[in-house]
Amino acid sequence: MRLFKCHNCEQPVYFENFKCANCQSEIGFDPLSSRMKSLNPAGEFWTDSTSGELFKKCQNHQHGVCNWLIPADKQDTFCTACSLNRTIPNLSNPEHLERWSTIEVAKHRLIYALIRWDIPVMSKVEDRNVGLVFDFKSDEGVPPGQRVLTGHADGVITMNISEADDVEREMARNEMDEVYRTVLGHFRHEVGHYYWDRLVMNTEYLEPFRELFGDERESYQGALDYHYQTGPPADWRENFISSYATMHPWEDWAESWAHYLHIVDTLDTAYSYGLTIRPLLAPEHPVQSGKVDFDPFTQTDFQAIIRNWFPLSLMINSLNRSMGARDAYPFVITPMVQKKLRFVHEVIHGRKLSVG
Ligand SMILES: [Zn+2]
Ligand SMILES: [Zn+2]
Ligand SMILES: [Zn+2]
Repeated sequence: MRLFKCHNCEQPVYFENFKCANCQSEIGFDPLSSRMKSLNPAGEFWTDSTSGELFKKCQNHQHGVCNWLIPADKQDTFCTACSLNRTIPNLSNPEHLERWSTIEVAKHRLIYALIRWDIPVMSKVEDRNVGLVFDFKSDEGVPPGQRVLTGHADGVITMNISEADDVEREMARNEMDEVYRTVLGHFRHEVGHYYWDRLVMNTEYLEPFRELFGDERESYQGALDYHYQTGPPADWRENFISSYATMHPWEDWAESWAHYLHIVDTLDTAYSYGLTIRPLLAPEHPVQSGKVDFDPFTQTDFQAIIRNWFPLSLMINSLNRSMGARDAYPFVITPMVQKKLRFVHEVIHGRKLSVG
């Protein structure tokens, strides 16, 4: 995610901010231009203080969960990101609002990336067959012994809002023996399943997909049972980004997709900070040094992306350790995993395949 600025006072502002912390001017994100706007009130609308364009705020602004804008002449009451919500939590419970807010932060970051790539984002309300919707549910009212399961099915991404609770999510992480579990990670993974249906199934990418990830027609339930009974193969790290990815070709794809999104979004942040990595011990080292001087969303050269990811992930892990936090990126990208990431890259950019 790039860094934005307040156009009124030039101070940097975060993607999620509603106001500039320095000059207090109202700000909002315009998904059409991918820009943060500084706003002046104009009757029932808001004007962009630089261009004079008229906007209205997304209806979810009232709940403090969305700062996105809609052109004033549009009929829509929800922004591009919020129009994808089909179910939101019951807000009479104040805890739900807090959890939903965490979920929306992550979801908006996901949608931002999809927009930057110009990947079609369409609500199921617009198109029942190929659209996408989100159901954010709590376990309230669910029969005892059952839970709302986070997952994707036919364009519906369901998320249990307990994932937005740090304690509950950490408990789940331990139970599942995972090294990384975040709300944003869930979104990136689940939307990967959705885009498999859209961008790989019934396309020229299907056969190359099967060659690389395996045949997705093998029984999913069988693979799931097998995975939870016997665990991953001993040498899984050679070929998979995570233990979970070993379960089924679909999960391998969704994990690889999610990692490609992690990488590009983090490189985008590095790019917006003009980051050059020249470790004192090896300033020109081919692997440990890097320069993120390109927009990773428009970068079609996969090598440029992955080459810079190694030094960047090493650096952010070191920074995290300095703060007593866990590694931000506790994963190893082997040559085989790199091939899978390259495949995701090729699908996203819709380019001729060069996997092999
Ligand atoms: Zn300001
Ligand atoms: Zn919104
Ligand atoms: Zn999955």
